[in-house]
Amino acid sequence: MATKVLFVSFESLPFVKTGGLADVVYALPKAIDKRKFEVRVVMPLLKVIKENHYDRLKYLDHIYVQSGMINEEANIYSCDNEGVEYLFIENDTFFNRDGVYGYDDDAARFSFFNVAVLEMMIKLDYYPDICHEHDYHTGVLPALCKIRYNAIESIRRIKHVFTIHNLAYQGMYDKKVLFDLLAFDYRYYEDGSLRFNDCCNFMKIAIVFADIITTVSRTYAYEIQTPEYGENLEVILQYRHEDLYGIVNGIDTDTFNPSTDKIYRNYTNRTVFDRKVENKRSLQYELGLEDRPDTLLVGMISRLTWQKGLDLFVNALPRILHRDVQVAILGAGESRYEYALRMMEDRYKHKAVYYCGYNEGLAHRMYAGLDMLIMPSLFEPCGISQLIAMRYGTLPMVRETGGLKDTVEPLNEYAKTGRGFSFGPFDQYAFDHVFDYAFDQYYYHQDNWQMLMQNAMTYDVSFKASAKEYENLYQKVLTK
Ligand code: ADP
Repeated sequence: MATKVLFVSFESLPFVKTGGLADVVYALPKAIDKRKFEVRVVMPLLKVIKENHYDRLKYLDHIYVQSGMINEEANIYSCDNEGVEYLFIENDTFFNRDGVYGYDDDAARFSFFNVAVLEMMIKLDYYPDICHEHDYHTGVLPALCKIRYNAIESIRRIKHVFTIHNLAYQGMYDKKVLFDLLAFDYRYYEDGSLRFNDCCNFMKIAIVFADIITTVSRTYAYEIQTPEYGENLEVILQYRHEDLYGIVNGIDTDTFNPSTDKIYRNYTNRTVFDRKVENKRSLQYELGLEDRPDTLLVGMISRLTWQKGLDLFVNALPRILHRDVQVAILGAGESRYEYALRMMEDRYKHKAVYYCGYNEGLAHRMYAGLDMLIMPSLFEPCGISQLIAMRYGTLPMVRETGGLKDTVEPLNEYAKTGRGFSFGPFDQYAFDHVFDYAFDQYYYHQDNWQMLMQNAMTYDVSFKASAKEYENLYQKVLTK
């Protein structure tokens, strides 16, 4: 009989996406061997899902969630998406909002969701063998199973794999959350298992209570055990190092496929050299850039936060734009970066363009039309954008950290290997130096550039190999 695995997440494509987490929760269940594992996904029924997918949902049941001061009702729906069953928990008090995260009552929203998942299991009499929780929003679930719901054998025996997608976001709240919203006994705070300094931290709770912890690249699994990247959890992660694994993300290669995608002109690695330039010209036209097919067109498609190394990029822009380079940026985030990019657009009309916002279609057309995607991240657990870029023959220029280091092999001119460009130290000199190097390769060593494009496009960015690694971990966790 197939092992039952329940993914627990706050976001997944095609329903809702704020970042790479949604790509992974969509693509990984599809890639896992269906003969051995039956994967379902449970998520909150957020407003945007109700608006766009309500017709597809099938009502299953009704639950009552009582947890500390939370007294709420919820409906459970299901929906098949490309052979994977999605379960949705509907509660308008907590989930009928325009955004996904970032509300004052997030602690209550996440607490409610975690408890509701367990109440759903009881109501539906569906008990997975493994719960695979994603990021801190779902981090208290292993502790709830092992403490509050411990009397129910079918819940007690569930094994927990918890994946850290980004350690920088931890869910740090007043300790009252543990008692008032999650109804834990005070002694678990006192003995330290639920405590973090004098408050509670959902990420830390997951790291303590999960049976296996994974993160999304091998390098990041190592980095987070050091003070530089550990975000104050490095000691706990070191303590759990035997159960900590790094498995690099892949992407859904059907969604991101230059030969079938809705871009200006489809292409494969055989036709890329002629047709990419058509995508580039159409992109230049769409974005109001000058029609210059030979000019190096670089870009960024990203949340605009400090993590993404925007300081390096923004500082370098005047230098970059004084040369024969065009720049296109798609993203929204911290206002200081949005402001700087608007200034850049104003100053370098038809040479630089900034699209402020989230636009899936434009992102695809940019992956197809750019020559180079820049990701100078301060830290990057895995990074999805560089994988997509490589699939479209767009060369990534990255800082060597986390998944960027694991997936972007830099150009070696002598061995004729590589898939992009990279630099080590997080400083302006290193950034400028490697940008100049890439510039030089584009204009004076097209043979190298084209070799990198070929290597990038034929590099396996699918979830196939990583799904195998997850399957092995699922087997392992069952014996714990
Ligand atoms: P993170 O999850 O930290 O935001 P990743 O590189 O792992 O970064 O994933 C980012 C994903 O979100 C990629 O699929 C990227 O194409 C997409 N993305 C980021 N910003 C935008 C945007 N403004 N519009 C469309 N897609 C975006």
